[in-house]
Amino acid sequence: MENNKNLFRHIPKVDEILEDTEVKEKLNSVPRKIVLNSIREELDLFREEIKNNLLSEEEVIEKRENIVRNILIRIEDKNTYALRRVINGTGVVIHTNIGRSLISREVMDNVYEIATNYSNLEYDLSTGERGSRYSHLKEIISEITGAEDAMVVNNNAAAVMLVLSTIAKGREVIVSRGELIEIGGSFRIPDVMEESGAILKAVGTTNKTHLYDYENAINENTAALLKVHTSNYRILGFTSQVTAEELYPLKVKYNLPLVEDLGSGVLIDLSKFGLEYEPTVQDSIKKGIDIVTFSGDKLLGGPQAGIIVGKKEYIDKMKKNPLTRAFRVDKFTISALEATMRLYLDEDIAIEKIPTLKMLSLKVDELEKRANMLLSMLNEIIDGDSCNVEIVDSYSEVGGGSLPLERIPTKCISIDFGDKNIAEFERSLREFRIPIISRVYKNRLYLDLRTIREDEYKIVVEGIEYGLERMKGCIK
Ligand SMILES: *Cc1c(COP(=O)(O)O)cnc(C)c1O
Repeated sequence: MENNKNLFRHIPKVDEILEDTEVKEKLNSVPRKIVLNSIREELDLFREEIKNNLLSEEEVIEKRENIVRNILIRIEDKNTYALRRVINGTGVVIHTNIGRSLISREVMDNVYEIATNYSNLEYDLSTGERGSRYSHLKEIISEITGAEDAMVVNNNAAAVMLVLSTIAKGREVIVSRGELIEIGGSFRIPDVMEESGAILKAVGTTNKTHLYDYENAINENTAALLKVHTSNYRILGFTSQVTAEELYPLKVKYNLPLVEDLGSGVLIDLSKFGLEYEPTVQDSIKKGIDIVTFSGDKLLGGPQAGIIVGKKEYIDKMKKNPLTRAFRVDKFTISALEATMRLYLDEDIAIEKIPTLKMLSLKVDELEKRANMLLSMLNEIIDGDSCNVEIVDSYSEVGGGSLPLERIPTKCISIDFGDKNIAEFERSLREFRIPIISRVYKNRLYLDLRTIREDEYKIVVEGIEYGLERMKGCIK
């Protein structure tokens, strides 16, 4: 095209845009740099489109008319945090993609106190000399788990790596083939073992491993026996695995450390909530396991962390391993974990105050009450003649690779938009000011009441209203 050159004259100058009242107003609340960058980006895009002959003259004129609006949207986008809160309507309590465990206000109060003040992080107040950051958690974790000693690193993957590197570098670790698992995000037991420098000695078969398989594999180069919790999957049918308890006599006979990667750190009996009994950390310690590792932010409901508990002789060695420095936790983690662990001193308080446990313990009749509350709020905005909104029975999940087969009865709000595009609606919710993550199943939208707090209902209603407006339907 010849004449596209003269289209460039429609591109406004930066100064011109800065004179716009709405843009001027933005400058009061948004950093100038964000405003200027947004203007430049939008104008550059405009210039590119003209240069590449993508726009007719009418389109150029229309674009010019909308340019301020597009710039304002761009400013809004840039001015929000990249990491933002969302509302979890999925019913997956420990949802790895949207932040795993929630921390309570009380726990955060302690983090705030520690992070905004100086603290005795590595200072021994009784001697006035250098102290250890690992000392703060030892007492409380030992108290709760019954373990002789404890230390904490960044996450459980790091914990497993540190344990293997410390006790088994260059030597063999015996593990059942039925436990050579992959947890999401590329945590694979064989790979972690290789990275740690330990040599994997896999025994038995996928579905069956016997005690003699372990015993036959023991030689002078054996460093440890390892049990791994098959967190996110189950082998059913013709199966048998050797329990840690059954391995104990072998450990004694050959004088080998017995290590267990528990995955989720369960500290209370979950069967109280009607969930399957999941062996607790205390159980493992009672059974005489030398080293147990687990996550801080799965069923424990605390901050991201990898907790190592067990015999002092091994933990002392781990503290001297150079990897410990690389995996070390900061004061945010330590203060959040200490406050979370203290809640466990009284089980009823833990269930009440730790969001993960609270959500898992919610009963169906309570959830139904809540569903009715949300439903009546939604009925104010949704036109029931063109859309169908109702409360339905469904199942929540524990998530986080814990209790994969467990289906916890729950109540959901379910919406049917008839012939409207449900995928679009689901996207609108995700793009709302506070994104709402929902589930779509068989052309209906589901919001699980188990993972939505009462103080979030108002936002959910606003989000749905926003979605309806974008969809142009079902609005009262
Ligand atoms: C989740 C899990 C891990 C990894 O824990 P992170 O805290 O996520 O690093 C390791 N082992 C098992 C068995 C797990 O379930």
